[in-house]
Amino acid sequence: MTASTFDEIGRALRVHQRFAILSHIRPDGDALGSQLALALSLQQLGKDVRVWNEDGMLEKYSFLPRAELLTKPPCAAEEFDVAIALDTAIQNRLGTTLAAIRSARIWINIDHHLSNPGYGDLVIVDSNAPATGEIIFDLIKSQGLPLNHDIAENLYAAISTDTGSFQYPKTSMRTFEIAAELVRTGSLDVGKISRQLYENYPRRRLELLRELLRTMSFEFGGQVASFSLTLKTAADLAVLPEDNEGLIDHLRAIRGVIVAVFFEELADGKVRVSMRSKEEAVDVCAICQKFGGGGHTLAAGARVRGSLTEVEDKVLEEIREVLERKS
Ligand code: 5GP
Ligand code: MN
Repeated sequence: MTASTFDEIGRALRVHQRFAILSHIRPDGDALGSQLALALSLQQLGKDVRVWNEDGMLEKYSFLPRAELLTKPPCAAEEFDVAIALDTAIQNRLGTTLAAIRSARIWINIDHHLSNPGYGDLVIVDSNAPATGEIIFDLIKSQGLPLNHDIAENLYAAISTDTGSFQYPKTSMRTFEIAAELVRTGSLDVGKISRQLYENYPRRRLELLRELLRTMSFEFGGQVASFSLTLKTAADLAVLPEDNEGLIDHLRAIRGVIVAVFFEELADGKVRVSMRSKEEAVDVCAICQKFGGGGHTLAAGARVRGSLTEVEDKVLEEIREVLERKS
């Protein structure tokens, strides 16, 4: 992979006219906020921009400024000068948005996942960045691209969510400096944004947590904590896929737990595995890569074929081996 510079990407943004901005399936705040921020900046430059995600805009992020710009991709493919993948570790996690790009002269890949192989023509993968939103901020600032209130609020939401409210270890001095500049530039109401992000959950999310905690189990002397969601429970509670984002943090927050795992039975015969680690020495990205997934050292995931119990056994065994090797 050859890393590109902000100047190269800035040039591509200025000289072309038609853009598609995409992010990964089951998007999070970083994916959606980064997409909207870059789209709004390009719109200010007079560009034609499509902003697509397989899942469309999620209900819980629909407060983001100009959220209506972000839609599911159309059935009929369109032609673009530039397609931009944000926050997406492997190209096939773009899901159905990929099929909606009939052609693009240039593919740009901007991401912060360690496991990103660097697909595309212009690539910036910075695994030290705690959020893709931080890279988008640097791109906008270095290239003198438009930055207004709406763009600032989207970037703030992207960075706040992917750093766990400025808590995770990759949160740096620079992250706070960027956040301060966003608050200043956009005159952002931090309390209001935080309320919308963290104090506005539907009741069913807590009902889901109650059911997950019933399945909570500990292994390896309490160093591994996991819980599981069956299709039946998800149907009984009528939960949306987005409802479980962040619930794994309850496991990670337990004293003595090093690895937290969430198993979610999917309708396609696979199990979505979500993993968190509290120690750099226990690289959950490497564990998830063994199962065809990826992510970051301390937060990763995979989709594994098999029944819930089969996948639970296989994955927990792999974690056990890693912890044994470490101790
Ligand atoms: P989460 O557990 O929140 O779904 O994902 C944690 C991190 O792992 C995210 O950065 C996400 O992009 C990555 N990740 C989750 N699931 C997969 C997967 O199936 N494949 C890959 N390559 N990465 C994943
Ligand atoms: Mn991210």
